[in-house]
Amino acid sequence: MNLPLLTDTFGRTLSYLRISVTDRCNFRCVYCLPPEGIPLLPGKDILSFEEILRISSLYLKMGGERIRLTGGEPLLRRNIVDLVSGLSRLPGLKDFSLTTNGYYLEDFAGSLKEAGLQRVNISLDSLYPDRLAQLTSCREFKKIWRGIEKALDMGLRTKINVVALNGLKKEEIIAFGWMAKKYPLEVRFIEFMPLCGTGWHPEWVLPLYRVKEVVERHFSLKSLPRRREVAESYEIQDGRGRIGFIASMTEPFCHDCSRLRLTSDGKLRPCLFSNIEVDLKTQMRRGATDETLKGLLSRAVFLKPMGHGIGDVHHSSVDPQALPSIRFVGG
Ligand code: SAM
Ligand code: SF4
Repeated sequence: MNLPLLTDTFGRTLSYLRISVTDRCNFRCVYCLPPEGIPLLPGKDILSFEEILRISSLYLKMGGERIRLTGGEPLLRRNIVDLVSGLSRLPGLKDFSLTTNGYYLEDFAGSLKEAGLQRVNISLDSLYPDRLAQLTSCREFKKIWRGIEKALDMGLRTKINVVALNGLKKEEIIAFGWMAKKYPLEVRFIEFMPLCGTGWHPEWVLPLYRVKEVVERHFSLKSLPRRREVAESYEIQDGRGRIGFIASMTEPFCHDCSRLRLTSDGKLRPCLFSNIEVDLKTQMRRGATDETLKGLLSRAVFLKPMGHGIGDVHHSSVDPQALPSIRFVGG
């Protein structure tokens, strides 16, 4: 049988590659980085643009369709627009996006769009400037807001990522509802996940069904088809935008996951939450051929676990005893 090259052992096609272009960041979000930051990789260990383009090109030849640039903060990477321009010209790329904290977006949105970027996800955890500063360390709400407006003006399809932590107030949720009603963008609430350098705090998880209850009390929602999207998305009646919920913890979508992740130092990770990785950079720098690299890409696909396994007794980052209040409905 001739299986597609990016189909894993559970029948999922991994057509979506998230590429981290830097480990550096100018924010210190409480759920992502400790205040003192994390040890940074030496510059020589970070993939060059040529290396990223080579891996991306092979991935697209194998049947990949979507690429997202992320970080750290991707707009801190020097000459990022050149990388965007190179990637956007690769044959086979159907969906090309970038996730940013928005700080430099007002400066970059125009050139990113011109270079071929299609979509942008902007992280914005509160519409209240003081609360945003507490959560992210960024005191320049207005600068991020100008970045959002610029992205919309430039015609970049825009999503707003809101990590919903316990303590998120009803007024804040409703304010995001109004934002999605007024602007042609999608606001997506995301559950806190054990991803990060700040440790795991189960008490920080706000199950998104509670956020959704608040939204539904104030807005009329119309469900949209899911099509392998991680978010459960809704149109808002009489509104211009949408609202979505990414309940990775309480309602995992691993059975339908299409993602692979490339770290800034060239390791391919089949799952965001697992320590399994395939080292592409070392092989590339030792002179690996394209066929060898394709073989390594296939290996990462083959190694993709069925689920993120958070809550399993053997999972490395979480004490399952510490999860009593979380309702798992799958995965
Ligand atoms: N610096 C960019 C930004 O913040 O958008 C890109 C990198 S950031 C790691 C990508 C996304 O992951 C952001 O939307 C961020 O809010 C989200 N994120 C980071 N840590 C998270 C966590 N522990 N749980 C849930 N989402 C998280
Ligand atoms: Fe930086 Fe993004 Fe992490 Fe916030 S979520 S600390 S902006 S990498």
